[in-house]
Amino acid sequence: MKRVLLLLPTASYRNADFLAAAKQLDVEVIGVANHCHQLAPGWGMSPIQSVPFDQPVAALKQLRTALGRKPDAVLAVDDSGLDLAALLCEYLYLPGNAPEAVRQTRDKLAFRNLLRADGLPCPEFCHVDSDTEPALLPPTLRLPVVVKARRLGASRGVIRADSLDEYRQAVRWVRGIQARADRDATELGIIAESFIPGSEHALEGLLQRGQLRVLALIDKPDPLDGPYFEETLYVTPSRLAPATQEAIAQAVQRACILAGLESGPIHAEMRVNAEGVWLLEIAARSIGGLCGRMLRPALGMSLEELILRAALNLPLPEPGSAGANGVMMIPIPQQGILQGVRGLEDAAAVAGVTAVQITAATGQLIAPPPEGASYLGFIFARGATPAAVEASLREAHRRLEFDIQAAVAVNEARA
Ligand code: ADP
Ligand code: CA
Repeated sequence: MKRVLLLLPTASYRNADFLAAAKQLDVEVIGVANHCHQLAPGWGMSPIQSVPFDQPVAALKQLRTALGRKPDAVLAVDDSGLDLAALLCEYLYLPGNAPEAVRQTRDKLAFRNLLRADGLPCPEFCHVDSDTEPALLPPTLRLPVVVKARRLGASRGVIRADSLDEYRQAVRWVRGIQARADRDATELGIIAESFIPGSEHALEGLLQRGQLRVLALIDKPDPLDGPYFEETLYVTPSRLAPATQEAIAQAVQRACILAGLESGPIHAEMRVNAEGVWLLEIAARSIGGLCGRMLRPALGMSLEELILRAALNLPLPEPGSAGANGVMMIPIPQQGILQGVRGLEDAAAVAGVTAVQITAATGQLIAPPPEGASYLGFIFARGATPAAVEASLREAHRRLEFDIQAAVAVNEARA
């Protein structure tokens, strides 16, 4: 029986799907959590260890004594475990990504430096350290700019500024968000870069010995122009021209080689305009939230099963059925306490809609980006064409009604 060590963050959306895939493949799971295992709810197993994922060197030290028989693969189910997974692969002589490759892609500043050094399309950018008050716009930048935390996700701590005043306010706000979310916030500082106009897309891929296999190219049909960048619709296959799709795959492959990423899932995001393909980021993990579920029909199996198969050298599927698939990450209408949701049955009854799943709990504090870190829920749809899928998702969303009780603002930094 093959054994896989899974790094399971307590709050990850992906744990259940990875555990289900392991069961499906009859693979033994060694679970490692980033939280007291007694608090990890309903996993049907107890992780052998609980270690701090955000202190990977200390975590590796703790794990060395507890591991027992060597696993056949190590996988982080999302961002937070990537550094530790890379260290573990190195330590155990397992195929995986080098710690330095993961570091370069986890850090938005390092990734920009990488693109620029190689001459790949890259916006002007600069580091904004934690000490200086931003009196002026950095001289290399022109408005509008995007101010970002270094290594957060889900558009948390990402704000567009159109004026010097907005820039100063964004710097203060993003610093505050990062300080609450990243233990190394002060040393890291933040990043400011020119706004890249264009359409936005995501590429879901798998690296095998450095070679990129495109699993899906995804369009984001709602414009993402800011000032905040809440993700909503993902639809695949892409409606871009084949030559543009090819250019995207080439840019992603090139950047993976530059970063030194060689194995396992990648999730890349890019903007496309008349000047070419502008990579926003490449992460050495698969797509976040529950979004990966939309790929199941096209892959012929769950994304998690495919990732596990690749990691364990088991045969991979041939591409599955045709047709279009999509997901809506349900936008969070306002910050507050979720009281209830109406219209679920009506939404689920829309032709093409395959599931409506509210993932936020009643009583939970929810907030849209740039503050929020969790989703309200997901709507999934299938159809003959991307346009049909998009229409189904929009109609289902129109039928939902959220009762959210306004709460005191969580961000003091903005005031
Ligand atoms: P995260 O890791 O939080 O997803 P990203 O760098 O991907 O951070 O930024 C989140 C979103 O913000 C992107 O999907 C994109 O819509 C927008 N964005 C980020 N940087 C830029 C930029 N330079 N120009 C235009 N939009 C941007
Ligand atoms: Ca992103």
